Amino acid sequence: MSRFVRGTIEVAVAMAVRGTYTYALPEALAPIAVAGARVLVSFGRRRVTGYVLGPGAPPEQKEIKPVLEVLDDEPIFPAAMIPLFRWAADYYKHPLGAVIQTALPGGLTVAESPEWRITDAGRAELDADRLPAQEARVLAILARKRVGARLGSKVPREMLSSLERRGFILRTQKLQTGGAKALQVRWVRLAPGAPADSSLTPKRRALRDAVAAAGELPVHALAAQAPHVRSQLRALEGSGHVEIFERRLYRDPFGEAIIPDAAPMLTADQEAVVAGVCDALGRGFRSFLLNGVTGSGKTEVYLRVAALAMAAGQSVLVLVPEIALITQTERCFRARFGDQVAVLHSGLSAGERFDQWTRILNGQMRVAIGVRSAVFAPFSDLGVVIVDEEHDSSYKQEGGLHYSARDLAVVRAQQSGAVALLGSATPSLQSYYNVRCGKYSELTLPGRIEARPLPEVRTVDLRRCRDLRGPGRFISAELNRALAETLGRGEQALLFLNRRGFANFPVCSACGSAMRCRHCDISLTLHQAANAYRCHYCGFSLPGTAACTACGAGQIKRLGMGTEKVEAAIRALFPEARVARMDRDTTRHRGDILRLLKGLREHAIDVLIGTQMVTQGHDFPGITLVGIICADLSLSFPDFRAGERTFQLLSQVAGRAGRGDRPGQVILQTYNPEHFSIRAACTQDFTAFYEQEIAFRKALGYPPVTRLIQLRLSGRDARSTRQQALALGGELQALRAADAGFAESIQILGPIEAPVARIAGQFRWQILIKSPQSAILHRFVDQVLAAHPHGTTRQRVRLAVDVDPMFLM
Ligand SMILES: [Zn+2]
Ligand SMILES: [Zn+2]
Repeated sequence: MSRFVRGTIEVAVAMAVRGTYTYALPEALAPIAVAGARVLVSFGRRRVTGYVLGPGAPPEQKEIKPVLEVLDDEPIFPAAMIPLFRWAADYYKHPLGAVIQTALPGGLTVAESPEWRITDAGRAELDADRLPAQEARVLAILARKRVGARLGSKVPREMLSSLERRGFILRTQKLQTGGAKALQVRWVRLAPGAPADSSLTPKRRALRDAVAAAGELPVHALAAQAPHVRSQLRALEGSGHVEIFERRLYRDPFGEAIIPDAAPMLTADQEAVVAGVCDALGRGFRSFLLNGVTGSGKTEVYLRVAALAMAAGQSVLVLVPEIALITQTERCFRARFGDQVAVLHSGLSAGERFDQWTRILNGQMRVAIGVRSAVFAPFSDLGVVIVDEEHDSSYKQEGGLHYSARDLAVVRAQQSGAVALLGSATPSLQSYYNVRCGKYSELTLPGRIEARPLPEVRTVDLRRCRDLRGPGRFISAELNRALAETLGRGEQALLFLNRRGFANFPVCSACGSAMRCRHCDISLTLHQAANAYRCHYCGFSLPGTAACTACGAGQIKRLGMGTEKVEAAIRALFPEARVARMDRDTTRHRGDILRLLKGLREHAIDVLIGTQMVTQGHDFPGITLVGIICADLSLSFPDFRAGERTFQLLSQVAGRAGRGDRPGQVILQTYNPEHFSIRAACTQDFTAFYEQEIAFRKALGYPPVTRLIQLRLSGRDARSTRQQALALGGELQALRAADAGFAESIQILGPIEAPVARIAGQFRWQILIKSPQSAILHRFVDQVLAAHPHGTTRQRVRLAVDVDPMFLM
């Protein structure tokens, strides 16, 4: 830990400003203002949180502002992580202070924001009724209460400063400390000694009965089912029928004790893989890609490698793509390593996350498991970084700091001299390309544990079912028969369709228009359970009884399908079966996923219908049949990764079958049985898929053979957004033409309107910049951004940068 006696320090401020700043360090603060500590500093007219990075540049003649306060007695991140933050800021074109803010657990930022209040002169002026209507309205609001930053965004700046100049209002700065505290959720249960319900209205009685049946349940779970639930509950609470209480959001996974396990015997393949990684541990940076078929026992390899690193006194970071998967991974790691395991994810309260963070920082926890943001876990002695399901696009953060946690994990391993171990049954093209280029070493697990066979995959051509009516259109005779046989044997089935809702293409029978979102350039999806049309992009919704959004006619045909429609069909075909659905609509709360997984494990569910949530590495030992309702949904996306995503999704879902002691079968329904992504998924032949796909990427010059940076423009006004996009395009072309190096290596695609041209009222344009050489590409974009330092072009059009974009929609 470096301590600076006096002089200056380098500080990154927690704001959207580029670069770092030098502050003078008063002698009294010097002992605690060490790298990794937070400080309070003046910035412009405000006081903001800053992060100490190290000694500052030697003071020049001009006056340097002093540090006002040191906010921590101990650093809140290790100095060893500063190079990672600097790398991420530079590579992802994001302000350094904002990168650190993203990395830290929430609730640690002290920010100052403006607050306006009315003065006595302002009150007198308001009473005298002499002001123009708009100014009077502002004063009237302020006469009732003080207003914060919101006011500045609603009222023109000139009017506010004019009112301020005339002495009618006063602007002050309010310091808001970010309080990291536990998240409480409101629950409801019957009140002890609740009165008889004879006097209740039918609605309230139904609600009371629902509470009685559940015992205890979160208020939001009830509120999601019907309107006005909250007020009805308040009334029931008032009349002494129910009581509402608070409970912490986080519960232990499964709420069960975890029984310590002993390491099982490894297969010869697992043994070889562990030995391969073991040789590299403690000898500097090395990257491995563990390519292992579904069910081949990758988790056991992770556990062994983690144990070896820990035995050598080093720490272990484990990334998984989704919160739902943490449960399973956490269970395995806790069973082996007990309470040395920390878990970091958004399901924890801010207080709990901060607690986990501090224990990692203090060296009390040697293993951390988490999603994306856990790549920033504050270890200073990393031995190995494990990225499970490395192909999963959930590792890419959209919005804010657009980072890839998988790529950052490799950079972090490199900077720490650690081993990076990326695992998948369907590696990303990027990672496998790195194997072929010699950047990563490949490790393989070619067979399932205990020599279980891979499931047999049968393809059904959906074109044959096109003219059928009813469920026969999407539940083929083959699938129907296989379901009947599976259920007859008392086994479980999984049906996969990567689209939620009931009908995703509701069409007016009078005018033929699709029901469209008011704010997006996209059609609405009908959700039958909620009896509503919903936009999956912005959340806009219309009641299920709504008339055509184009002509007002009332007859809407429910074309297109989603998991709800499949569920209804299965319930009709197999009324005896216990059917459950797992998609974003049925798993809004952490407990929901656990309940479904538990139901499957304990065989309280016969048929599970789900979206891609069910593909992500869950281990369902009782499932012997997997039905893929329509394999083609992701093929038609206007994205060069459509084939790769389809292959990964289908192989992963097929791999859910037959993971217990009984063999599995897969029925894959498709309109494109001869498409190579689908054929390769049927045989789970990754290499065949890779060879064909990489040839296509080479021919068209797409990643991984080139690098991409996408510039996105969005604005509320269609014309100015278009104009700014075209102007920026012109700027790029001029910059390219002016430099021989750029002209040779840089390719500019666009500006074009985004495939979804409007989302949430924002018109969207994009420019794709491509180059085989990463360094030149970054130099080019850095020059472009230097001309647009605030992330905007003119006329309120926002400019966002996405380095290595995953989604081109
Ligand atoms: Zn929308
Ligand atoms: Zn119509």
